[in-house]
Parts: sequence; structure tokens; C-alpha cells
Amino acid sequence: MITIPIETSARHIHLSARDVGILFGEGYQLTPIKKLSQPGQYACAELVEIQSKESWGLAPHLDFTFGKSCDHNQLRVLGPARDKTQVELSWSDFLSLGLSPQVALSGETTAPSEKIILIGPYGELPLTSGIIIAKRHIHCSLAKAKAYELADRQIVSVKVIDDGSEEKLLSRRVTFHEIVVRVSENFDWQLHLDVDEANAAGIRGLGIGEVIK
Ligand SMILES: [Zn+2]
Repeated sequence: MITIPIETSARHIHLSARDVGILFGEGYQLTPIKKLSQPGQYACAELVEIQSKESWGLAPHLDFTFGKSCDHNQLRVLGPARDKTQVELSWSDFLSLGLSPQVALSGETTAPSEKIILIGPYGELPLTSGIIIAKRHIHCSLAKAKAYELADRQIVSVKVIDDGSEEKLLSRRVTFHEIVVRVSENFDWQLHLDVDEANAAGIRGLGIGEVIK
């Protein structure tokens, strides 16, 4: 049996160096506060507010259902800076923002949206592309790819066999399909789900899955 740790990704944003400048001020340096499981990746102290253009100008609680207050319309900035800015949201987040859900692999181009504004402490940035629901994916090292005979871009399924609860109740037992294997020497062996998916499977903390080829 091939087992894999399952990690949940909360909504977040990767920023280009240019967009860091627009939102936080020219020459601004992001502040790393926590290492993430994938090597070289980290969470930053910085947050960016995301708003739907239709609610722009109104107090968020009046016409915006993304969160219960404007404090909830925040995206954690992840570093280091990338070539292109990318926002990763859940399906529920898309609906709350009035967007048509778009599932895509990280870095893939998607249909443009005209509705999103990012708000930083220094400036604002209308965002027309790079807003995705991350396609389910496995981060796979070269060693694991060899050991498990997995290829880059291979599609697999993962059955959740441990939901991370002490009792291992698996009261919401599911198998996820259409998972893309991404192989890189920079990756650690892990399945990434978003919050909607993890909640659907009743996953608390770190889950464990069985990879089905
Ligand atoms: Zn990932």
C-alpha cells in the first residue's frame, strides 16, 4: 500500500515582486513567520484584503458574504515572491466572491475575471487573472516517484484512511479522484487539499491517504 500525508491548504496568495511593491510600498520586504512543509516555502506576516468589485465602496458587512467582517476577507501572503501573482481560494470562496469557480493547476492560465481587487496597506491592485481553485495535487520527490513508479502529471486517486482524529472515526469517508502528481526534486511527499475538500472528508489536522493508481 502507498500511503501519503494529507495537508490542508487555506486560502492564500503568492505575490510577484512588482505586486509586493504596489500593495506594500516600493522595495518592501516580506516578513517570513513560518516554514511550510514544502522546502523553501514560507508563510509571511503580511495579509492582503480581497474584495469583489461589486462590493467596492460599501462596508464589507453590508454587501459581502466572504466572511462575517472585513477582517475575514484576508489572504495570507506566502513567500518567496513568484514570477506572477496567484490567488488560491476554495470553491466556497469563489461563490462568496460572485466568481465562477475555476479549477486549475498552479501556474496555469485561467479565464480573466474583472471583479477582484486586492487591497494592501499601501495600495490597491485590480486582479484580472491568476485566481484559481488549486487542482488536487501530490507533491512528489524524485525518490518517491522512483520508489512508487509515479510519473509527473500522472492522475491518481487517494482514499482517506485516517482523518486525523484521535478516534479515526472516518465518519465522512471519501476517496478523491483526479489528483495530479507533480514530481520535482524540491518537493516533499504530500497530498494537498483545500479547506472545502478537507472539510468534506472530515479531516482534522494531518490526514493520511492511500494512493490508488
Ligand atoms: Zn501544493
